[in-house]
Amino acid sequence: MTPEQIAELRTQRYNATVVYQKKLHSDLMVLRVKPDFERPKHEPGQYCTLGLGNWEPRVDGCQPDNLKPDELSKIVRRSYSLSSSIYSESGKLRDMAHDDWIEFYIVLVRENTDGGRVPALTPRLFALQQGDRVQIGEKIVGHFTLHCVQPTDNVLFLGTGTGEAPHNFMVWELLSRGHKGKILNACCVRFKKDLGYLPTHHQLMEQYPNYKYVGLTTREAEAGRKVYIQDAITSGQMEETLGDTLDPARTHVFLCGNPKMIGIPAKDRETGHWSYPQPTGVIEILESRGFRADNAATKVEGNIHFEKYW
Ligand SMILES: Cc1cc2nc3c(=O)[nH]c(=O)nc-3n(C[C@H](O)[C@H](O)[C@H](O)COP(=O)(O)OP(=O)(O)OC[C@H]3O[C@@H](n4cnc5c(N)ncnc54)[C@H](O)[C@@H]3O)c2cc1C
Repeated sequence: MTPEQIAELRTQRYNATVVYQKKLHSDLMVLRVKPDFERPKHEPGQYCTLGLGNWEPRVDGCQPDNLKPDELSKIVRRSYSLSSSIYSESGKLRDMAHDDWIEFYIVLVRENTDGGRVPALTPRLFALQQGDRVQIGEKIVGHFTLHCVQPTDNVLFLGTGTGEAPHNFMVWELLSRGHKGKILNACCVRFKKDLGYLPTHHQLMEQYPNYKYVGLTTREAEAGRKVYIQDAITSGQMEETLGDTLDPARTHVFLCGNPKMIGIPAKDRETGHWSYPQPTGVIEILESRGFRADNAATKVEGNIHFEKYW
């Protein structure tokens, strides 16, 4: 493709500008994107799409995508939760209504380890610089929101990796509303450096007595042993940090990220029986304690809400 053709495609297909890009390390970034149009209405927890043309450069060290010539002019789109840096300056919650951009928290997927499709978008997103153009979806959607949470409920946000993104926006919302119940935000990552918003969470804990953040690591040598979200629940660590029991009558649990952590039950097509996947996920553990997960098929809302990223 010639530089003129690429310039033409960018003009035709892109509708937003990167106004901020911060690499927390080579494979993790916070990206702020300003649409050419007014930001669509949205709620914390929702998501929209980002897209880039297959003609865009990819960062080095990723699985090759071996595109055919007729695929080069296509756009690849993926969903991204809206995130939040929570503070505008030290100790002051953001006035997010005045931001004209949307914040995203994105990890670079270098290769597919389970035999599925070759990662197409993140190797291109990580080549972006401030001022570059992208495509953004015109709608912000999703049911993973705080609509069911009452002011005195305890709320647990349990995420893996960048699954923390929507939780941060929801934390901002609860703290801005003066939420009275306890809030526990836990995130499981491989290394401590993957906890991209850690300083913010430390500051929040100092400022808000009802807010607790827990970062769990699975590969950090100094951490001693792997601790997954599931382990922190079954060992009692989660309740100890929350400072309360996990009572289904007054607790909502939000799960986001790796489907193995969530463990969504599936219905057997022949027998009609529901069963939990293995290894055991959080839904199985909490349902054995009286919680109920949202069920999209029956449209029954429970007190476990989830968003799986793949
Ligand atoms: C509703 C929703 C919201 C999302 N929000 C975010 C977000 O806020 N931040 C974010 O980083 N991602 C988010 N994702 C994932 C995102 O849509 C992309 O799948 C991801 O960025 C990888 O894009 P890709 O094109 O490079 O690879 P894809 O083609 O999307 O994925 C290729 C394969 O890589 C694996 N994979 C995908 N994502 C991951 C991951 N994070 N870690 C390990 N393996 C993975 C899967 O096996 C997948 O089949 C969200 C997904 C959904 C459905």
